Amino acid sequence: MRRLAPYQSGLWLAEYGDVRCQLCRIYRSTPQSQLPQNHSSAIPLNTHSFFTKLRQHVNNCFDSGLLCSDCHNSIIWLPKSFEVDIAAGTSLSIQAATYYDYPIRQAIRAFKHHEDMTKLPLLLHALRQLPRPHGCHRDNSVIVAMPTTNQRLIKRGFDPVSILAAQLSKHWHIPLWHGVERIDNTVSQQGLTRAERLTNLENAFALSENPPVKRLLLFDDVATTGASLQALGRTLCGQSPNLAAINSQISNRYQLSAYALAHGSQL
Ligand SMILES: [Zn+2]
Repeated sequence: MRRLAPYQSGLWLAEYGDVRCQLCRIYRSTPQSQLPQNHSSAIPLNTHSFFTKLRQHVNNCFDSGLLCSDCHNSIIWLPKSFEVDIAAGTSLSIQAATYYDYPIRQAIRAFKHHEDMTKLPLLLHALRQLPRPHGCHRDNSVIVAMPTTNQRLIKRGFDPVSILAAQLSKHWHIPLWHGVERIDNTVSQQGLTRAERLTNLENAFALSENPPVKRLLLFDDVATTGASLQALGRTLCGQSPNLAAINSQISNRYQLSAYALAHGSQL
């Protein structure tokens, strides 16, 4: 039997075993409209209808999210998207699920820096608020997760962004694509101005292969100024200095949009 990674078993428990709200820990009620319509015992319980209803109920629980409606409504979802330039006349739109604020900020920090997998269900609930991009499906789109460096991966022991991106991929039914590498020798982005960040990032990414489809959905956990997504977008558009020799028409070949779990200051 395949061993489950700790985050997988945590998610499984939250989805199917734990019916409490992942934030307030109070019983998570399923809205009446989402309950199976008719569960009167007067109806003959043949095997077919039993399993149909069971499956319906599991699907309803799955779709209803992992927070109670009070906690869900206390969070601002889908702040206005913002744009960064990635090529002449081409901008990249960045849509975040929510702001980098309570409770998502604490959950992201605990997950990223302390490997606290109990926060993953809350982050998954936030990811599910992102609208699936219009017209995108598994045959014309891929998700490009913000790559990490080998150094960071070794230091941290896991890659939080790729775990979140895998969940988004499952939710949207759109595959991940791993054709971009992050080069190790960049310094931390924290504390740098926007211009310094961009310069720092210009050489941070390298394509190991050409994207297999036209629609590229970039994903990062937190978008602050959008500089990392902008640099990744520039690389994919062939605008990075590393790819200056490539035909400039490449920028018309792909349609890029970007998504993040949270938008805001990391300070
Ligand atoms: Zn709650």
